[in-house]
Amino acid sequence: MSKILYLSDCYLKEWDAAVAKDNGKYIVLDQTAFYPNSGGQPCDTGTMKTENGNEYKVVYVGKFSGDVSHEVDNGGLKAGDKVHCRIDWDRRYKLMRMHTAAHVFSRVIFDETGAVTSGNQLDLDKSRIDFTLENLDKGKIKEWEKKANEIIAGGRNLKISFYPREEAFKIPDFIRTSKLLVPEDLKTIRIVEIEGLDQQACGGTHLKNISEIGKIEVLKVENKGKNNRRIYFRLIQ
Ligand SMILES: [Zn+2]
Repeated sequence: MSKILYLSDCYLKEWDAAVAKDNGKYIVLDQTAFYPNSGGQPCDTGTMKTENGNEYKVVYVGKFSGDVSHEVDNGGLKAGDKVHCRIDWDRRYKLMRMHTAAHVFSRVIFDETGAVTSGNQLDLDKSRIDFTLENLDKGKIKEWEKKANEIIAGGRNLKISFYPREEAFKIPDFIRTSKLLVPEDLKTIRIVEIEGLDQQACGGTHLKNISEIGKIEVLKVENKGKNNRRIYFRLIQ
């Protein structure tokens, strides 16, 4: 199993690693900070450079049979090769801003309506949050957007902690948002806390402070079934 570096340091942009397994263009490293496509957050892209200067583009990263697998643009990397890895930081940082914005906005929606988030899909241009709510007053959306932007402008630190399963199940916010989403065999749970606002179990990459989000704008709202509402938003700063 690779060591997953982004779990404790979301701002790690480059690092040295060794190829642990090679399968043509599909590479597993001994340690990686490349985020695999999962949990509604798209994968990172970037490069791996060998000691003799060959550069491979990382075009896709996914989780397969428990491994983080990096698809590179050419074959040639072999187990044991040492590589210097670099994340395409503009892309990742924007996804971190989107991801952290989704935490804040979900919290505002919950505080205003009691609705729990049922899913989300982040992307660079726009992201969406699904939540369970039968009656949605569309006139309120701009108000929620304003509240979210006020919270963001206020600035709050994020803290990542690892809890034994039974401890996580005592945190009220965790029970509300994540209880049903956590796999039964997961013994240690990563909790992302926006200080004084929210705690959620999450495996994604986040900012150190919500002020780095900038500002969000709601683009549209859709009805997806009787109880499911979908909000699209983007970053405007
Ligand atoms: Zn998250």
